[in-house]
Amino acid sequence: MADPKGFLTHTSRETPTRRPVDLRLSDWKEVYEDFASDTLRTQASRCMDCGIPFCHNGCPLGNLIPEWNDLVYKDRWLDGIERLHATNNFPEFTGRLCPAPCEASCVLGINQDPVTIKQVEVELIDRAFDEGWVQPVYPVFLTGKRVAVVGSGPAGLAAAQQLTRAGHTVTVFERADRIGGLLRYGIPEFKMEKRHIDRRIAQMEAEGTVFRTGVNVGVDITAEDLRATHDAIVLAGGSTIARDLPIEGRELDGIHQAMEFLPWANRVQLGDDVTDADGLPPINARGKKVIIIGGGDTGADCLGTSLRQGAESVHQLEIMPRPPAERADSTPWPTYPLMYRVSSAHEEGGERLFAVNTERFVGEDGKVTALQLHEVKFEAGRFVKVEGTDFTLGADLVLLAMGFVGPQREGLIEDLGVGLTDRGNVARDDNWAADVDGVFVAGDMGRGQSLIVWAIAEGRSCAAAVDRYLAGTSELPSPIEPTRLAQR
Ligand SMILES: Cc1cc2nc3c(=O)[nH]c(=O)nc-3n(C[C@H](O)[C@H](O)[C@H](O)COP(=O)(O)OP(=O)(O)OC[C@H]3O[C@@H](n4cnc5c(N)ncnc54)[C@H](O)[C@@H]3O)c2cc1C
Ligand code: SF4
Repeated sequence: MADPKGFLTHTSRETPTRRPVDLRLSDWKEVYEDFASDTLRTQASRCMDCGIPFCHNGCPLGNLIPEWNDLVYKDRWLDGIERLHATNNFPEFTGRLCPAPCEASCVLGINQDPVTIKQVEVELIDRAFDEGWVQPVYPVFLTGKRVAVVGSGPAGLAAAQQLTRAGHTVTVFERADRIGGLLRYGIPEFKMEKRHIDRRIAQMEAEGTVFRTGVNVGVDITAEDLRATHDAIVLAGGSTIARDLPIEGRELDGIHQAMEFLPWANRVQLGDDVTDADGLPPINARGKKVIIIGGGDTGADCLGTSLRQGAESVHQLEIMPRPPAERADSTPWPTYPLMYRVSSAHEEGGERLFAVNTERFVGEDGKVTALQLHEVKFEAGRFVKVEGTDFTLGADLVLLAMGFVGPQREGLIEDLGVGLTDRGNVARDDNWAADVDGVFVAGDMGRGQSLIVWAIAEGRSCAAAVDRYLAGTSELPSPIEPTRLAQR
């Protein structure tokens, strides 16, 4: 245990300060200031090393949280990163982007603020990279078995790294021009700078994983060819079909899905030649009245991106009522709390409207100019209009951020002929296997839209199942047992 009295002596939780809003709106760098290592050690000392550490159960990866809290407190960083990497291939992604279900279930959170688990995680991995401790981990022997991983998001990357280290010859196929999935082209630079992906890919390449970008499996390579040339296939193509809003006026210009908008800003930051004479990409918010439909994280990413591009105004609409300021009674400890959250983007500007529904898009000359809206209340299991609350909001750019309904069927899925669940995701059994021999599924493609931490946990578990299929047995860890497969 770090410090037996730590949680009594240091009752306040400290998290890193966000850079001043005007400064961070003028660049695209990550929003947080550096965190002093002494403060981090003090924060780590608040961990009680619980007899039953609920943080373990809260984390889909089963991260060994009390162990690395203790090691950081004792200044044993090298041992700390070894324990962190034992359960998580990519703590630099989760340490920046995870909503931290571990903190929501921290025992200290029952009557105090929880331990700053996520900050300890990110500081550990950043220090490990800085010190040169993150080196290739080579397989002890090669099995001669070939595995194709389709999709290079966190699920595909985790599966690929685990299988390469187990001695299989792994090729990752990615239809985009760069590796990373939503980490690369969905999540904005200000939430995670893309250099973090690049240095991890360099490690994976050195270990022997082969990456092939610009290859759309099911189109550029047939599923039949892929099966003929590989002993197993891992499908990790994500949940890519966005939920639409098919109401009057949807056909007007200026209405886009979030994932038609966000990748352009990331491409600019990556140095791609995609801008006009004013330095703006094809879909941008400069000088526009922006309305984002969808109050979640993707909507917040659209908000932060729009503000950095110089939007005139931004409104983010949410159909659900504003959540309570504190943990709602319906989500008691140790579940993930329903509560009002202010992300870094919300702090930067814009206005959030709750319990609001869009009735129709209004336009002129084929272009969107406004949204016709009204307030709603939830009654008998559905939203009903509150009469007399109609209003309009002017808009030049509307971004739909209402989630994803499943993977694309044309191409890969139809070509392989794998079965789907009633929710439209690729069906898999307790061994992560689809109903076509040698084909396995991990991440959002099987689970539906979820989180990075689940994608990594699924990639690791799926890799163990593929290893068993190829070698008869496996020493790879499997964080998600079959009983937890259906959980989110
Ligand atoms: C804007 C946005 C922000 C988000 N922010 C967060 C966050 O802050 N924290 C968090 O935990 N989660 C976040 N999420 C969710 C998270 O990104 C996903 O749950 C996660 O990336 C899923 O990982 P995956 O590997 O299953 O799929 P993806 O990351 O979607 O990767 C799938 C990859 O497969 C490729 N592919 C698909 N079909 C083919 C094919 N036929 N051939 C070749 N390649 C193919 C795609 O091009 C893509 O690169 C966010 C999602 C979005 C949209
Ligand atoms: S639940 Fe919280 S206090 Fe207990 S071991 Fe985990 S991080 Fe430490």
